[in-house]
Amino acid sequence: MRGFLDTLQGIKAKGHTLIGCFPLYPPVELFHSFGLTPVVLWGLEQDIRDLSISDRHLQPYTCHVARCLTEFVISRASGLFRALFMYNACDTLRNLPEIIGSALDEESTLPIMRLHVPAVSLDHAYAAGYLQDRIEGLTAELENLTGRSFSASAFNRSVELYRRQRGLCMQLEERQAQGSMSFADCAEVLMAGSLLPVEEHIALLEARLRESAGTGSEMHGHPGIMISGILPPPRHLLEVIEKAGLTVAANDIASLRRSYAYSPAPATDAGAYYEDFYRGHHPCTTILPSADSRAEYILKTAREKNVKGFIFFGEKFCEYEYFEMPHIEQMLKSSGIQCLCLEMTDGGGEQIAANQTRIETFAEMLHT
Ligand code: SF4
Repeated sequence: MRGFLDTLQGIKAKGHTLIGCFPLYPPVELFHSFGLTPVVLWGLEQDIRDLSISDRHLQPYTCHVARCLTEFVISRASGLFRALFMYNACDTLRNLPEIIGSALDEESTLPIMRLHVPAVSLDHAYAAGYLQDRIEGLTAELENLTGRSFSASAFNRSVELYRRQRGLCMQLEERQAQGSMSFADCAEVLMAGSLLPVEEHIALLEARLRESAGTGSEMHGHPGIMISGILPPPRHLLEVIEKAGLTVAANDIASLRRSYAYSPAPATDAGAYYEDFYRGHHPCTTILPSADSRAEYILKTAREKNVKGFIFFGEKFCEYEYFEMPHIEQMLKSSGIQCLCLEMTDGGGEQIAANQTRIETFAEMLHT
C-alpha cells in the first residue's frame, strides 16, 4: 500500500477536490453531494515519524492518533485540501480546530468547518432539533464554499453510494471471518476506505469479494477472538495473531466495524438523515449516547461468534476507551471469555516485540 500522503496527492491529481475530515464519523454523504471528496484523517502513523511540529502545540500526554493528525494537518494540509472539517468527539480533540487554525501558516486561507454533535441522547427533541439546525448551518457553509446549492437528489445519490460501501465492508468482514482471507489483508482493504474516493473503494471491495468467493477456510476451526480499539494494530501484530492459530471472528475497532456497521435509511433531508445516523450509530465511546450500550453489545457479539478471547488494543492516553475497559474485562471474564489488554504507544511500533510475546502467550492459553 502507498503512504497516506502519496495516495492523497494521487487522488488530487485526478481532479478530486479533497476535504480533510476528523474524527471518524463525519457527514461524508453531504460533502460528496457537493462534489467534494471527503478523506477521514485517521491511520496516519505510516507517514508521520517526526512529531516536532505537533509537540509545539499539544501536550505530550495526548494520544498518538491526535499528535499524528495535528502534525499532518499543520505541515501538509494547505495546498492539499480545499477545506478541513471537524466535529466534537473526545476531550483531546475538542479544541483542535482552534489549535490548528492558529498554528497554520498566517497566509493560509484553509477554511475549517465544524459541527457539534450533541453529547446527550438524540431521543430528546431539543437535541435532535439542535443537530438538524447545525446540519443546516453546515449545508449553508458548503454552499458558500462550493458555489453550489444543496441538491436533494444529489444527496440521495451520495447516500446510496455510502450505503453500498458500508454493506460491502460488512460482506468482506463476513468473508474474512469464514476464513477466506487473513484479517490483516481484510483490514487493509477496509481501512483504504478512509482515504479513497467512495466509488474507488466500492470497486476495490467488489474486486476482493469476487476474488475470495468460494475460497477455502484454512483458519476455520481455530479459536475465535474478538479485537477492539480505536485503530487496528499494525499489520505485523495481526499476522502474529493468525500465525499463533487464532481467528479474528469479530471486531469492535472504531475505524473498522464501528464506522460501517450502521447506515440510515435513504433520505433526501440531510438533517433527518444525520439525526438517524448519529442516533442509530454502532456503539462507540466517541459517540457518548451510543456508548451506553457498548458493553452489552460486546458481550452479545462475543457470545454469538463463540469467541474464546478478547484483545483490546488501547491507544495510550485515550481515556474514553480505557474508562470502560475494566468493566468490559470483568463482564467478559465472568462469561468465560479471556481478555488481553495491550497498549499502543506510537501506533504499536514501540513495544512490538513485547506485544508479540504477550499475544503468543495468550494464544497458547486459548489453545489449552
Ligand atoms: S484515540 Fe481516543 S483520545 Fe485520541 S483522538 Fe481518538 S478518541 Fe480521542
